[in-house]
This record gives sequence, structure tokens and C-alpha cells, in this order.
Amino acid sequence: MARDRKAAAKEAGINFIHLPFNAAAPDPMLVDNFLKAVTDPRNQPAFIHCASANRAAALWMIKRVERQVQFWFTPRGGTDPNRVGQFPIFIWEMAGGRQFYGLPARTGDEVKVAFVRGGPSCTPDTIDRTVRPAEVAAIADVLGQRIPSMSGTFLRASTCMYTNTADEHFVIANHPERQNVVVACGFSGHGFKFVPVVAEILADLAIDGVTRHPIDLFNPARFR
Ligand SMILES: Cc1cc2nc3c(=O)[nH]c(=O)nc-3n(C[C@H](O)[C@H](O)[C@H](O)COP(=O)(O)OP(=O)(O)OC[C@H]3O[C@@H](n4cnc5c(N)ncnc54)[C@H](O)[C@@H]3O)c2cc1C
Repeated sequence: MARDRKAAAKEAGINFIHLPFNAAAPDPMLVDNFLKAVTDPRNQPAFIHCASANRAAALWMIKRVERQVQFWFTPRGGTDPNRVGQFPIFIWEMAGGRQFYGLPARTGDEVKVAFVRGGPSCTPDTIDRTVRPAEVAAIADVLGQRIPSMSGTFLRASTCMYTNTADEHFVIANHPERQNVVVACGFSGHGFKFVPVVAEILADLAIDGVTRHPIDLFNPARFR
């Protein structure tokens, strides 16, 4: 009973939040409340529990969208040394695991850089589209320290969203209850480069129900 659990949690000094949830007909408002509760630093670390584990796993997976910011700079070292063919696409993992990545100038006089993940949770309705000077300063600082010739004049920034899974691996599977539905989502910010093989897997699953590609890693049952 939720009442007993609440009393036990209170006794243990744990903040208890009860969210009755019908996994067959999820209520979007409840999903938002869940997201709000687990992303509130005052509730962390969070222990998510339900009797079947299906609902906890469904909620854990359902919305893990985070805000990302991309930045464009005119490199102070000039565009030519930072052009495609002269300078690589890179991802740099720094101490503590934080990563940033960059793309050389393709056309025009601008390079693109961004941090990888670490953004606040959001939804398409709640994402903050305003990029703050402090955010520009943070990436300019990292770029200036690591690749000074690529840093320079800040031109502009834009926001986008990553749809993350808990382990940052994809979800690709036949729907467990509707075999005529194939699910591919949660690409966690690194799905684009896999588009050709993901398309092949989806075609295999849709037409034959199986694929020769090893997709166990992407089975959503791993979150149970
Ligand atoms: C800023 C940013 C940088 C990234 N960088 C990289 C990278 O360097 N390398 C990499 O591999 N991946 C990268 N990614 C991730 C990659 O872009 C995604 O993993 C990939 O695009 C996900 O593919 P998708 O088909 O699942 O979704 P999407 O590409 O989002 O496609 C979904 C499509 O469905 C359409 N749609 C949505 N709702 C409806 C509806 N109701 N009816 C009809 N159509 C609808 C949308 O308009 C969209 O065209 C990046 C993502 C972002 C946001």
C-alpha cells in the first residue's frame, strides 16, 4: 500500500512521491510530474519503484530529453587552417568525462562547437531557447584553452534536444505487444551516423520480424 510505503519512507528520512500510473494509457501530465520530480536536485538521488517494474521502467525511459546548445565562432587563427580537409571533426573528452566536439569550416568562415550532453532536462514545450552569455563564455573558455586557433569571435548559437536513454544506447525492437510496430528511438545524441544500418534493421524487423544485425544491446527490456 502506498500509505505504508509513505510511512516507511518518512521513517527512513526519504522524501516520498506517489504517482499512480497506468502504463497502458500514460497521462502526459503525470509524465511531466515524474520528470519534474526526478530532475529536482532536492530529490536526488532518486529511487524509483513500482510493483511490476514495467511502469517504473516506462517512466524512466519515456522522457529523457535534454537541452543542448551549439555555437559558431569565426576562428582567430583564420578559416583556412580550420577548413574541412585541413582540420578534423573532433570530440575531446576532458578530465571528469565532460566532452566537447567541433566541426571544421565547410563553407563560410565559421566553425561549430558544442558540449556533449550535460544539459538540463526539458520537453519540446519547455525548452529554454535563450542562450545566455555565461553559456557562450563556458564553451569559449574551453575552446580557447584547448584549441586557441579555433576560438575567436562568437557569431551565434542555437538550441536543440537530445533524446537520451538511461545508458545512452538506442532502443530498437519490435513492440512487445504489437508485432506490426517497430520502435527506434532514444538515439542519445549519436544516432545520425548510424542511419543507414538502423534503416536496414528497421526494414528487416518490419518485413521479416528478425534481423541479422546483433540488436540485443538495444532491447528496451534491459531497463526492467
Ligand atoms: C544538436 C544535435 C547534434 C547532433 N549531433 C550528432 C552527431 O554529431 N552525430 C550523430 O550521429 N548524431 C548526432 N545527433 C543526433 C541525431 O541527430 C539523432 O540521433 C537522429 O537525428 C535521431 O533520428 P530520428 O529519426 O530518431 O529522429 P529525428 O531525426 O528527430 O526525426 C524525426 C522526424 O519525425 C518528424 N515528426 C515528428 N513528429 C511527427 C508527427 N507527429 N508526424 C509526422 N512526422 C513527425 C520530425 O519532423 C522529424 O523529421 C545530434 C542531435 C542534435 C540535436
